Amino acid sequence: MKDDLIDANTPIGAVKFVLLHHDGCARAKFHFRIELDGSRTQLIPTNSKGQHPNSLGIVISGVFDELTPTPEQMNGLKELLVDLKMRYPGFVLGAHRQVRADRTTTCPGAKFPMGELSAWAKGELLTIRNERIQVDIESQYGP
Ligand SMILES: [Zn+2]
Repeated sequence: MKDDLIDANTPIGAVKFVLLHHDGCARAKFHFRIELDGSRTQLIPTNSKGQHPNSLGIVISGVFDELTPTPEQMNGLKELLVDLKMRYPGFVLGAHRQVRADRTTTCPGAKFPMGELSAWAKGELLTIRNERIQVDIESQYGP
């Protein structure tokens, strides 16, 4: 499926959470998959309901209770999060295991670097997003 990040069918405020999963997750029906090489596949449109209300699900290929994701996967995931932040500026990034009703799962895996990624999402992600907005504005209104 073609990326529909800029699809107008999903209201900008509709996405409150972006939740991460791995292949060890018992659930199914995620919006995006990050492959081992960092490339992404869109599985269902952003306006179709996934696992949790008002949220988009990203599944990262691999089982991260034993292994860690590849650097390529982390880069691909970050690129996707930047694209999502451009479209849904208010979302909060979380791990599936942080969902209240699902506290018994380790998803996206005990070895997934969630703390590191959350810190990135609260800092560098916003900087990258702001820089991209600036480039967009300059290309539209620049000389
Ligand atoms: Zn999960």
